[in-house]
Amino acid sequence: MRELAQGVVQPLAAEVDREHRFPVEAVKAAAEAGLLGVLIPAKYGGAGLDAIAFAVCIEELAQACASTSVIVDVHTSVGSEPILLFGTEEQKRKWLPRLASGELLGAFALTEPAAGSDAASLQTSARRSRGGYVLNGTKVFITNIGHAGMYIVFARSGPEEKAAGVSAFLVPDDAAGVRVGQLFKKMGLRGSPTGELVLEDVEVPKENRLGAEGQGFTVAMRALDSGRIGISGQALGIAQAALDESRALLADRAREQGDDFLLADMATRLESARLLAYHAAWLCSLGRPFTRQASMAKLHSTDTAMQIAIDAVQLAGEVGVTAGSPFERHFRDAKALQIYEGSNQVQRIVIARDLTRDITR
Ligand SMILES: Cc1cc2nc3c(=O)[nH]c(=O)nc-3n(C[C@H](O)[C@H](O)[C@H](O)COP(=O)(O)OP(=O)(O)OC[C@H]3O[C@@H](n4cnc5c(N)ncnc54)[C@H](O)[C@@H]3O)c2cc1C
Repeated sequence: MRELAQGVVQPLAAEVDREHRFPVEAVKAAAEAGLLGVLIPAKYGGAGLDAIAFAVCIEELAQACASTSVIVDVHTSVGSEPILLFGTEEQKRKWLPRLASGELLGAFALTEPAAGSDAASLQTSARRSRGGYVLNGTKVFITNIGHAGMYIVFARSGPEEKAAGVSAFLVPDDAAGVRVGQLFKKMGLRGSPTGELVLEDVEVPKENRLGAEGQGFTVAMRALDSGRIGISGQALGIAQAALDESRALLADRAREQGDDFLLADMATRLESARLLAYHAAWLCSLGRPFTRQASMAKLHSTDTAMQIAIDAVQLAGEVGVTAGSPFERHFRDAKALQIYEGSNQVQRIVIARDLTRDITR
């Protein structure tokens, strides 16, 4: 992983960021190395590894290039894993080998303009038709937009309010009525495309519904549980890269004790975040409950990455704030992690809900 990340992915990172360019070579190399099917069992063409391996892979990628890590992370976790967890045998055979090989990139389309943190308020509709459903609506801030071959789309299929009326659908990018809307330019993670997915009278056969009708919100929440392990991996990678830049900088100059204290705190915080993330991944790998731990890992590791990136800019001084320096790139890249796959406020809601649900655990 490290050879691939440092040899192929890292040399592209500055250019990908500067040009807002999809790192096509990096994603191709990741596919050739079998990285796009890390969580997919061997019988469907994947590597059949566990959540710990997944977290480590994403961490190594993020250390090299945060944009590439988001693309691979979203594809591997929320963009593919739900088929493994909720798909029929037919759906698994149809989609997983193509996702594992990288022939198709996966994406996850939940967020809407008026449904971000409150995802259960989504309004995209899935009207029943003779052969299945007709989807209408607009999803926003969708990672891998325009490059994905398949979107897992969440839409309202019933009259029930909030979460109960939501179903999940596998929507190929070339289905009639699917188009890319506005693309969003971001402060960081600029090589990872983000934009609108517009659905206009998109006919989806009932074979493409993922899980039971009305089970869509459960699909989304379970996908996000393990997705948060991937985001933790991203945070660890960005933080490690910022820490390593700081170590190299301080090794080369006369240091004050204040520098040493800051460096020691950065490394200690990173190690604690790493242990929390690996622990959540370990619980997930064992099939034990891990929702709370994944949220704790996501909350702590992304806050840690942001703080370490800020500290690294501070240590580097004017070099740190200069456009094009790795310090300012890590600083810009770290921010979105505190927001996506459930903002860090939402993680606190998840943690508190879990803590008060069953006080014996
Ligand atoms: C780079 C990037 C990539 C993304 N990729 C995807 C993707 O692939 N697929 C997808 O579906 N979505 C994606 N998203 C969307 C992301 O999941 C949402 O941005 C996120 O859920 C927050 O929603 P919002 O931006 O609408 O913020 P809002 O929900 O409007 O929240 C704004 C602020 O209010 C706070 N807040 C909201 N509700 C509460 C509350 N009850 N208590 C306390 N504070 C609250 C939030 O924490 C946040 O700080 C992506 C976002 C980004 C930035």
